[in-house]
Amino acid sequence: MQRIRFTTTGWMETPGFMLGLPHRHNVPIPAVVAICEKSNGTIVLVDAGWSAEECRRPSSIGLAHQHILGVRVQPQQDVASQMRRAGLDPHRVTTIIATHLHLDHIGGAVDFPNAEIIAAHNEVTEAYRSSWMKGYRRKDLECLRRLRPVRLSPMPLLGFSHSFELDEEITLLDTHGHTSGHLAVAIRQGSTLWIHGGDVAYQHRELSSGSLCPLSQFLAHDRACARVAQRRLYRCGQEHPHVRVVLSHDAQGFATLPALDEQMP
Ligand SMILES: [Zn+2]
Repeated sequence: MQRIRFTTTGWMETPGFMLGLPHRHNVPIPAVVAICEKSNGTIVLVDAGWSAEECRRPSSIGLAHQHILGVRVQPQQDVASQMRRAGLDPHRVTTIIATHLHLDHIGGAVDFPNAEIIAAHNEVTEAYRSSWMKGYRRKDLECLRRLRPVRLSPMPLLGFSHSFELDEEITLLDTHGHTSGHLAVAIRQGSTLWIHGGDVAYQHRELSSGSLCPLSQFLAHDRACARVAQRRLYRCGQEHPHVRVVLSHDAQGFATLPALDEQMP
């Protein structure tokens, strides 16, 4: 990968105790999107955050979701607008890989008309049969006109039991548990292997703790599988020094990532 940068589409707020912290104050959490520029000029996103319309008019998220998730967004905080400000044309985005199809991860896909959306086959099936209370919205599914469900193969990689090689730089890793088709996305950039772990854990401290935080327990499709996915992702980061694990909702981890608004060196 020629270049990889990260951003968030606004913030959400969640009570500290839900993240396993010893207090009830609200904690701001990001919704981290990876922007991966390939040498052929195309761009791959991992997740897409909220849409331009949702950032402009947060009530369009749906009042229940907006309040439950504590969504704090401003106009122009969507990924497409941020990309334009950074000099990247959103039309160059040809692929969006969804770690999963929850609304805070895929709402912004609607802003990328040239993109094919890739998600795990199980995730697509689950999204279509689940209710909004599980975090899936029919409007997100309807905008996925160019959806490509993929089935991972039983090819162990980096400690994960199933994988799917999308191309020579990007591999999808099975981390089901948070949802039935949750993926981690491994992206090779020089000697670094970035792994966007989505919602496998909410915080790096949760990943290393060996147990699910209350929010992970509450939202897990399958808690036992979610624990397995956490253990595998943690071990992968520990055992491979070239691996950098990224989590969708870890504010401290986000602050350490190369940012989209960084100037070229
Ligand atoms: Zn999430």
